Amino acid sequence: MTDQEQLNSEYDAVIVGAGFGGMYMLHHLRELGFSAIVLERAAGVGGTWYWNRYPGARCDVESINYSYSFDPAFEQEWVWSEKYATQPEILRYANHVADRYDLRKDIRFEVLVDKAVWNDTTNRWSVSMATGETLTAQHYIMASGCLSHSKLPEIPGVESFKGKTYHTGHWPHEGVDFTGLRVGVIGTGSSGIQSIPIIAEQASQLTVFQRTPNFSMPAGNRPLTAEIVAAVKARYPEHREENRTSGFGVGVEIPTKSALEVTEEERNAKYQDGWDQGNLVGMLLAFNDMITNKEANDTACEFIRNKIRAVVNDPETAEDLCPFDHPMGTKRPCLDTGYYETFNRPNVKLVNLRKTPITEITPTSIRTHNAEFEVDAIVYATGFDAMTGALVAVDIRGKGGVTLKDEWEHGPRTYLGLCVAGFPNFYTITGPTSPSVFSNMIVSIEQHVDWIGAAMKHLRDTGAVSIEPTLEAQDWWVQHNNEAGDATLYPLANSWYMGSNVPGKTRVLMPYIGGVGVYRTECDEIVADGYRGFTLHEARQPVSV
Ligand code: NAP
Repeated sequence: MTDQEQLNSEYDAVIVGAGFGGMYMLHHLRELGFSAIVLERAAGVGGTWYWNRYPGARCDVESINYSYSFDPAFEQEWVWSEKYATQPEILRYANHVADRYDLRKDIRFEVLVDKAVWNDTTNRWSVSMATGETLTAQHYIMASGCLSHSKLPEIPGVESFKGKTYHTGHWPHEGVDFTGLRVGVIGTGSSGIQSIPIIAEQASQLTVFQRTPNFSMPAGNRPLTAEIVAAVKARYPEHREENRTSGFGVGVEIPTKSALEVTEEERNAKYQDGWDQGNLVGMLLAFNDMITNKEANDTACEFIRNKIRAVVNDPETAEDLCPFDHPMGTKRPCLDTGYYETFNRPNVKLVNLRKTPITEITPTSIRTHNAEFEVDAIVYATGFDAMTGALVAVDIRGKGGVTLKDEWEHGPRTYLGLCVAGFPNFYTITGPTSPSVFSNMIVSIEQHVDWIGAAMKHLRDTGAVSIEPTLEAQDWWVQHNNEAGDATLYPLANSWYMGSNVPGKTRVLMPYIGGVGVYRTECDEIVADGYRGFTLHEARQPVSV
């Protein structure tokens, strides 16, 4: 089919984004007999793994877990090479998926979706692209990712810098050679912490500008042996089921004890065990009150701070690297390879922006309160307008022309993180108020895709033309999300989970912390109750509530 013929067509679904969510959504809808097209701004598939090509980029969910489970033959065939896959390996995997399931013929690359409007008369969405083209569909699905709308820091002079600048979320495809250059890295989240050790090996001088120190643990990455792979594959179905019913999308032993009911010796032994596991949950789930009890959490914080102090030679630098302003885990913890050791290198300097904030960026330097750092290149590892940024970047208009941006002015409001009241047949894959970033994303993506596919099939089977949540159901879910968050320590941090990294963004815990297993059950029960909390319309008449 030519592009023009495609544009003249009407689809059952338009999907925005060809990352892991959009690719599986397309495949799944085809299997259900729906027509669908994916619109993708990049020139290739992979979503976050297409864009985030900075040095050291890797997933910090283990590769055997961070992979699709929908095709048992495929999961048996694919062989990951390392415990934590590199960005190039994950992108190879994404491309293989696109080829294997022949997805590209229904993906249009390098198109920016800028507007989507619901038509209450036709019960269809009109989706417009920056090219001026429009197509229509019964269902509109945003698979645009939680961490895809990158942001530069709000520092005067950012545009004035004459050297090279890079954002970790938009890394040049040809790579960057920092050999012999004076480099400044701004930002010490996951992207900064992964890239800093590698940039330090190349740069003549690396200055790291840190506003908030993070809790980072050694990843303990290693090649996957044939024995490890065989052991997982021998019970992959059970392994996947454990992930689906777990808290964070990775099956682990659930702790039963409080950190405060054991001796200090036992506590530290448990933390050491979590530390040695080299994963994100080892410390978070060392005890059952790590993310609910500040006093308990403090003990883990001090354990990690002592690790930092033991590695970093200069006591002042070590102390500057120690996080004190948020409980462990309430900003996304990091896994690293030699991050703290990097600060022992003679060519690396840490600037603590809490003591000496950046005042401006000049054409040749980064200037702080009391010093000026001449640099040849600046790396912005400054993160994303997370969870809602990519969604509201499109002018999405529901019933009566109401915009999603306006609806979410005071924080995202959804039912289950899947649908929004007033926006019929509109779905967000891993949207705000779903477990999303509090989980192994692929587990959450598969669950959302399956749920959306089943809802679309239900409409087709029952003759209904649209589905949307009631306001009451949505209010209930938002309240439930907030209550779940308020029972934890997450609101104590100024994190992107809370929207705090974007000036003016409403401060609210966006992802759902109830756990992927609990959440899945809730979604399934709502369907079993006849789509409780949703209104289904046949033509323009409601058929069930
Ligand atoms: P991030 O976690 O939001 O970190 C951004 C960093 O930039 C923070 O240290 C932040 O400081 C700093 N920053 C922002 N604006 C600044 C300013 N004006 N002046 C100085 N510093 C500023 O972003 P990210 O590292 O790109 O990671 C985002 C998320 O992507 C991660 O949390 C993770 O979920 C995901 N990710 C995953 C992986 C992986 O799987 N391995 C790798 C990379 C990213 P403050 O903390 O003070 O705001």
